[in-house]
Amino acid sequence: MKIIFATANQNKANEIQKIVPAEIEILSLKDINFEGDIPETQPTIEGNAVQKANFIVDKFAMNCFADDTGLEIEALNGEPGVYSARYAGEDRSDENNMNLVLEKLNNFENKKARFKTVIALSLNKELHTFEGIVEGTIISEKRGMNGFGYDPIFIPIGTDKTFAEMTMEEKNQNSHRARAIRKMVEFLQEK
Ligand code: IMP
Repeated sequence: MKIIFATANQNKANEIQKIVPAEIEILSLKDINFEGDIPETQPTIEGNAVQKANFIVDKFAMNCFADDTGLEIEALNGEPGVYSARYAGEDRSDENNMNLVLEKLNNFENKKARFKTVIALSLNKELHTFEGIVEGTIISEKRGMNGFGYDPIFIPIGTDKTFAEMTMEEKNQNSHRARAIRKMVEFLQEK
């Protein structure tokens, strides 16, 4: 079975192929020679995942999935959420996005947060969604050099390391993305 993964991020496509059994072949946008931008204009993480999957299905009429992820901080009413990539606005960068989170969270005792990934799969024109969540806390200083995004300030429950202090293998064993992907793979294997 061949499925397009609607991401421009080749690393993500390779990472996912490692989790998925060999009989499911993941095609990246590069593999199908698509170089344009995929719209991501919805107000929710789920909405964006569905929008991205539908966009590619409409163009290529092939089975396809897309993912969208956000960091949801309880004391900030779920921010940055769907705005995680561009939280610091024009000055967006991993560094500036994290600094803004730390600044806003400074006066709150409640440091609870979670990463949420939603995968939208369009299979034979039917849409299915899969959610992966990792609960944790935001710490007040950055720790670790690995990973990306908000990894240096997020500690998942059950460990004392930030995601950025873990190896890629350690993080991927139980990351929000891996959990959502595993749910999709189980679904595909039952088909
Ligand atoms: P995307 O939907 O996977 O592109 O993620 C949107 C944004 O959420 C990214 O630009 C990062 O800021 C953040 N993000 C997503 N996944 C992770 C992660 O695994 N660790 C830290 N930050 C992440």
